[in-house]
Amino acid sequence: MTERLYYADSHQQSFYARVIACRPAGNGWAVVLDRTAFFPEGGGQPGDTGTLNGVPVSDTREEEGEILHFVSLPFREGAQVSGALDWDRRFGLMQNHSGEHILSGIAHRLFGCDNVGFHMSGGEITIDLSSELTAQQLERLEEEANRVVFEDRSVRTYFPKPEVLENLRYRSKREMTENVRLVEIEKCDLCACCAPHVNHTGEIGMIRLLGSMRHRGGTRITAACGKHALEDYRRISRAAEEISALLSVPRTETAQGVKRQSEELERARAEVSALRRRIVEMRAETLEPVEGNMILFEEDLSSEELRLLADAGADRCTGVCAAFSGSGDGVRYVIVSRHVDLKRRSGPFNEAVSGRGGGSSEMLRGSCHASRQTIEQAVTAVFRRGEE
Ligand SMILES: [Zn+2]
Repeated sequence: MTERLYYADSHQQSFYARVIACRPAGNGWAVVLDRTAFFPEGGGQPGDTGTLNGVPVSDTREEEGEILHFVSLPFREGAQVSGALDWDRRFGLMQNHSGEHILSGIAHRLFGCDNVGFHMSGGEITIDLSSELTAQQLERLEEEANRVVFEDRSVRTYFPKPEVLENLRYRSKREMTENVRLVEIEKCDLCACCAPHVNHTGEIGMIRLLGSMRHRGGTRITAACGKHALEDYRRISRAAEEISALLSVPRTETAQGVKRQSEELERARAEVSALRRRIVEMRAETLEPVEGNMILFEEDLSSEELRLLADAGADRCTGVCAAFSGSGDGVRYVIVSRHVDLKRRSGPFNEAVSGRGGGSSEMLRGSCHASRQTIEQAVTAVFRRGEE
């Protein structure tokens, strides 16, 4: 049995131990020690990383009661090793996990909801609460959680005797009767948990709700605490500063700045669209009447602009007016006719030009992949008058 040093002192960053066993595992080795400060994955908290005699420990997990330290080099049984945690990472995990207990405890006390799912990854925590919370309730939750941090309350962990446990009210994911380890946050929460936690809530620094969404009849919240909250704040500040500089507005007024810019963009788009339409109309006015089909190849026209042009062309020819635009990755087309039934010719035309599309007997629209020459031949061959 390995002595779990993190139970007695969650802040122990280094230790000496003896190797009890070393077995091949995956591409490396799994080391079992007589004592360890490495926390194996559990209670939603990832396993610790760090070093054993300078050799990186990539993960720590518990399997069948054994704590396994995963390393890339073998260790001799009986050897003495010095272990060191990646403390920055572990402390961040403890800040997040202790913050989670506070959020879940307050949500339970204030709104009567249970934590029915918990996940920690990438600096964020995800908590699934069993009931739907309003925006105001979430704001209150964040407010209350940070009050617990500001008051720097104590965090205590202990294994109560079964008869004591019987009479305690505590939060727990599942029914347990023996070896229950409780984490007590002064005047805030009592919860069964096997993971290391901060000693005082002040160590958490800050609890920030990042987002929420409805999830399976309840609410899923994401949050970041301590150094992760700081990282998030920095990221958001940098983005705000960048937007502020780009728009020349104060950092706190970026939303209004973006809104103004979006409105300007909308106006500019409408103006461009109207101008383009005017250009297409002017182009349509230059179309000379023809006997038979009119085939037009235009640069960079939208489907709607092609329709305008083809519609005008159809009035000036006795066959079909087929308008095309685009190249390379696809050619858009619109075909309009007052005299030829288009619908039943859609299949043969698309087949001839590797296209897809369809429409009515008066208009076809779609796209194709073919050269100008192939397209011209296909229009001439498919849309012949008098073959109704
Ligand atoms: Zn926990």
